[in-house]
Amino acid sequence: MSTKYIFVTGGVTSSLGKGIICASLGRLLVARGLKVTVQKLDPYINVDPGTMNPYEHGEVYVTDDGAETDLDLGHYERFLDIKTSQSNNVTTGRIYYDVISKERQGAYLGKTVQVIPHITDEIQSHVLKLGQSGNYDVVIVEIGGTVGDIESLPYIEAVRQLKYNVGRANTLSIHLTLVPYLAAAGELKTKPTQHSVKTLSESGLQPDILVCRTEHHLDESIRSKVARFCNVDLEDVIESIDARSIYEVPLLMQQQKLDERVIEKLKLETKEPNLDNWLGFVEAVCNPSGEIKIALVGKYVEHHDSYKSIVEAFIHAGAVNDCKVKIIWIQSDNLTAKNVAKKLAGVSGILVAPGFGGRGIEGKLSAVKYARTNDIPFFGICLGMQCAVIEYARNVCGWDGANSTEFDQETEYPIIDIMPDQKDIENMGGTMRLGKYACKLEKGSYAQKAYGAELVDERHRHRYEVNNNLRYKLTENGMKLTGMNPERDLVEIVEIPEHPWFVGVQFHPELRSTVNNPQPLFVDFVKASVKYAKSNSTYSSLKENKVAVEK
Ligand code: GLN
Repeated sequence: MSTKYIFVTGGVTSSLGKGIICASLGRLLVARGLKVTVQKLDPYINVDPGTMNPYEHGEVYVTDDGAETDLDLGHYERFLDIKTSQSNNVTTGRIYYDVISKERQGAYLGKTVQVIPHITDEIQSHVLKLGQSGNYDVVIVEIGGTVGDIESLPYIEAVRQLKYNVGRANTLSIHLTLVPYLAAAGELKTKPTQHSVKTLSESGLQPDILVCRTEHHLDESIRSKVARFCNVDLEDVIESIDARSIYEVPLLMQQQKLDERVIEKLKLETKEPNLDNWLGFVEAVCNPSGEIKIALVGKYVEHHDSYKSIVEAFIHAGAVNDCKVKIIWIQSDNLTAKNVAKKLAGVSGILVAPGFGGRGIEGKLSAVKYARTNDIPFFGICLGMQCAVIEYARNVCGWDGANSTEFDQETEYPIIDIMPDQKDIENMGGTMRLGKYACKLEKGSYAQKAYGAELVDERHRHRYEVNNNLRYKLTENGMKLTGMNPERDLVEIVEIPEHPWFVGVQFHPELRSTVNNPQPLFVDFVKASVKYAKSNSTYSSLKENKVAVEK
């Protein structure tokens, strides 16, 4: 069977949840036994989002192979339970970079290099690379941006050409659009959708299926209006109504028969879908027995997308523990030794988040100290782990002023220091310690028990590390280094064994949490936090509020 390509475009506005629709369709096809991957094409000029501020772009999602990518790849991994790679995210910057490099090498043999055909050919070759790997039955391609944007045009043109190059029978075009409700008129409006489809058609692309985001059900007359004016069959107008959880979307799409329409049109032979696990998970997410509060201390908390994978990992871990994790967003800039008890009152766990730069560090250190001295479960991730080490060095080991050289180059006790191979790096893009590295766990440690394994690997994104010349001071004073990178003897995990649950990790466990494989440290942290909540009356029972999930 030749690989099928499904192109997903978006119209009317951004933020309609194209990534979730792609991931949901992917999940439905995987549930039918197909091998599927999802690729994101981003129309911006950055080569990757690695150098972008979280306020601009949200979280930078890191893959096993160390690519810094769009956060939608996180959705793909979490929904499909697959591993993505550098090939799954392509930006305009990357396309131009490759084309210009080839031009400099003389690869175009004297030709004038142009958007058409050179840029559009390069886009096509990036899409085909996944299909031609032979690993997939279906490649879903999400085209970032909104139809009508100038910067999306080369992508739409590349898709138009690809349809002919791989055979039209092997491709499908899905357009995600908005059907807004005008309260004053008391009506759903189809005009924006009509215009969006018209714009797409002007570029030579006719959608085969329309997925309509809406706050109200689309009745028969609205659906037939959309179908008639947008040149699609009635059954190809799929309603995508607001869901309680993004994880409910695959079920809603299945009720709307999105997967059936896709397999019929692409003539895919599949088995009946098995969504039992998924249904059980959504049931657990929507109907937990209780709720606890966990503080997420970070400096980008106004923008929750900056911590997307952490939020999702808590949902997965909450489902395993039959408990909703309510995140209390704590801005680290505003946290001080004086107000920390007040700001963190009522929480049953404290997570100090990853980050870069000195802003908010003293607040993070106050949060660590509060968790450590009050026996509240603590989880430090990357910068959060480094803060745990700094706090321990200062307040337990007695090294006043201990710090990371990221924030204080002159510190007397650089307990966190730049990695030697990072010292001379000048370019900021793609040069951190990135991607998957091994970690050997100490038997009997919290981490080892949580993983149930002794050798694991996790993804990284950092330039600084625990200083190997000074780490003796930590262990002399009771902190345990329970996870080490075997090749380079780098500290990956620190713990305080006397504490009910105090774990700091240099890597990013949140990036590996999926619905089918919730991340073990998150599961264990939530378990410890539930235990703490039950013993401190901070656990709220939710037994009465159950609402069934529809099959
Ligand atoms: N800024 C720290 C470093 O580079 C931590 C990075 C992070 O939290 N991802 O090591």
